Amino acid sequence: MSIVTRARMVARHTAIRGGLIASFALSRAGLLKAARGRGAVFTLHHVRPEASRPFAPNGHLEITPDFLETAILALKSQGYRFISTDALATITEDGDPRPFACFTLDDGYRNNLEHAAPVFARHGVPFTVYVTAGFIHRSHTLWWETATELLTRNNRVTLDFGDGPRSFALDDYAARDKAFDHIAGFIRGTTGQLSEAEAVARLDAAARAHGIDPVAITERLTLCSDGIAALAAVKGATIGAHTVTHAALSRLPEATALGEMVASADAIEAITGTRPRSFAYPYGDRSAVSIREQRLAEQAGFLTAVTTRPGIVATRPALTLQPRISLNGYYQRALYVRALASGIPFRLMAGG
Ligand SMILES: [Zn+2]
Repeated sequence: MSIVTRARMVARHTAIRGGLIASFALSRAGLLKAARGRGAVFTLHHVRPEASRPFAPNGHLEITPDFLETAILALKSQGYRFISTDALATITEDGDPRPFACFTLDDGYRNNLEHAAPVFARHGVPFTVYVTAGFIHRSHTLWWETATELLTRNNRVTLDFGDGPRSFALDDYAARDKAFDHIAGFIRGTTGQLSEAEAVARLDAAARAHGIDPVAITERLTLCSDGIAALAAVKGATIGAHTVTHAALSRLPEATALGEMVASADAIEAITGTRPRSFAYPYGDRSAVSIREQRLAEQAGFLTAVTTRPGIVATRPALTLQPRISLNGYYQRALYVRALASGIPFRLMAGG
């Protein structure tokens, strides 16, 4: 990301914050109640205490346990009830007029068990952790974490995504950001012709060449089978599926995409004894999820499936294409949570 892009991003965040504060004022005034829909599904990733991280391109994927508690209390004070992703499947028939909040955490990080589960348990709040079979079995790596470590621990890296070796001098934050964007472009397929798996393999090779073991990062950050079993035993916890390789499903052939879904459900059932009924699409945005993936999720037997398309749950929700609200590192304030849950920001963004 260039300095200009970053400046634009900061400006956008500032604008969003302003919009959130305005939305909060509107929701306090009891206006636009209809925008709230039935409730909100929140997306979380890392939940861990704040630490100094010199390069944090994934800062939006992280909140503190304290903020999680603040968010829960804010929603409680607004009269929200808390439901599991399984209850989401019958939400339109349950007759409860109160708005609902549903907490989900993606990727299966160790800190979900260590730091998030105790907060949820303390408040009697159900939650779903969407786990990736390839991370659990240490057969796959988290490219965004590998890239962060590679770019943090080196002053110069050489990368080759099939267009010849390219060297990056990592003199400052902006240079690291630019290299991260270069990597992300090849992996997400906005640059070049490589499949996601090939691009990740090339990143992993570059990391190894610079003395970093990507599988060790997977081990350090994500839960193994025993950890998933321990998490599943926490009261209120549900384990959901999140594929085997964490690839953007829309870029895969149909049979492969379906295989990713079914195999991840198999892997979870083998660990917990319960077949997951909910699925989270990796990345979850419009470039990764289409109508085909929705059909495949139903074919794979999931009752609910969640995207990362921003929004609240409508009166008549598409159960296997649920929007979610990101509870993220940039908006760690209670009033933001209330404003987001009100649905008003999404109404404003849509211009309606
Ligand atoms: Zn994910």
